[in-house]
Amino acid sequence: MLFPTHLLAAALLGWWLQRAGSTRVVDETGLWPAVDETRLWQVVDETGLWPLALVVAGAALPDVIDKPLASLGVVELFHSVGHSALFAVVVLPVALSGRAGRAVAVGWASHLLLDAVHVVINGRPDDALFLGWPLVVPPTPLRIPPGEFFFFYLWSPSFFLELLVWAGAAVVAVRRLHHRRESV
Ligand SMILES: [Zn+2]
Repeated sequence: MLFPTHLLAAALLGWWLQRAGSTRVVDETGLWPAVDETRLWQVVDETGLWPLALVVAGAALPDVIDKPLASLGVVELFHSVGHSALFAVVVLPVALSGRAGRAVAVGWASHLLLDAVHVVINGRPDDALFLGWPLVVPPTPLRIPPGEFFFFYLWSPSFFLELLVWAGAAVVAVRRLHHRRESV
């Protein structure tokens, strides 16, 4: 999935978790859960925005780590260390360190999940083996650098899924704005 979409999806996820973790009642738009059991997954408190930024930072992590490594020729694949589920050995202790760490971990996991969904719906399920790097690797990886990749990726099924994420974010933003204006 494209880098900006990872960040946006993480922001949406962090925001949703914030709402899910809060004890506040569902607002009039009815989109937001008020289930208390999800408190366990609360990553963002009601007052501070900074943990939300950490969810976004966590979602940036796999590309921030792996793209330079591949561009410099340290590893062959664009999905390696940061995209591997085995990187959980680093992320898990961070997650257990507290709410901030949990926010980073959630963002990181969302990136891996979305990249896996992307290759599967674009008909390349074998590429999801990046999750097992370096124990397993995709048998026929694309090996297209990020810039060129964009044009290869354009108008693929996953690209339309990304458009949906952006459209969803726009709808949420408009609804919130509308709601805010009404409550003033
Ligand atoms: Zn990625």
